[in-house]
Amino acid sequence: MSQYLVDRITSAPNIEKCTCTEVTALAGSDVLQEITLTDVHTGRQCRVMTSWLFVCIGGVPQTGWAQEVGIVRDEGGYLVTGPDLQEYRANLKWPLERAPLHLETCVPGVFAAGDVRHGSIKRVASAVGEGGNGCGAGASLSE
Ligand SMILES: Cc1cc2nc3c(=O)[nH]c(=O)nc-3n(C[C@H](O)[C@H](O)[C@H](O)COP(=O)(O)OP(=O)(O)OC[C@H]3O[C@@H](n4cnc5c(N)ncnc54)[C@H](O)[C@@H]3O)c2cc1C
Repeated sequence: MSQYLVDRITSAPNIEKCTCTEVTALAGSDVLQEITLTDVHTGRQCRVMTSWLFVCIGGVPQTGWAQEVGIVRDEGGYLVTGPDLQEYRANLKWPLERAPLHLETCVPGVFAAGDVRHGSIKRVASAVGEGGNGCGAGASLSE
């Protein structure tokens, strides 16, 4: 999650933060009436009466495949590209005379754009822009 969102949630007086806690049960008849929260460390459970539950998904990059093919990832699993490769793989064996392009991974000709890329701004407009830019780079490479 973006830090500014974390900061806003953390500073909101009307939000109770329950870290290391999972929603482990939902209960209700026609509509949701109660959720069960479980502390992952202690196993302690508490039930909260509510008819609302918002689920925030999409924060973990699914890049196991990239690791399998040798693409450098950062500690969060995001794909490292361009100049950032030096930081993450100082002894990188780069087979071409030119340096990796801005959106190019450690595998020549394989690009990463948008949220999956290390250091990208996690926003729609940025992802679209990087995607267009990456396509351009790919097209010029194949010419
Ligand atoms: C809860 C939430 C709220 C957000 N709110 C905003 C907002 O208000 N404004 C804003 O600008 N941004 C917002 N974002 C961020 C925005 O959604 C992302 O920045 C944007 O969607 C990134 O686009 P992307 O194309 O890089 O990745 P994605 O939109 O994640 O697209 C990647 C696609 O690749 C698919 N995929 C993954 N692995 C594979 C695979 N192995 N093979 C084939 N397909 C695969 C996925 O299913 C997905 O469809 C929000 C994100 C979240 C999670």
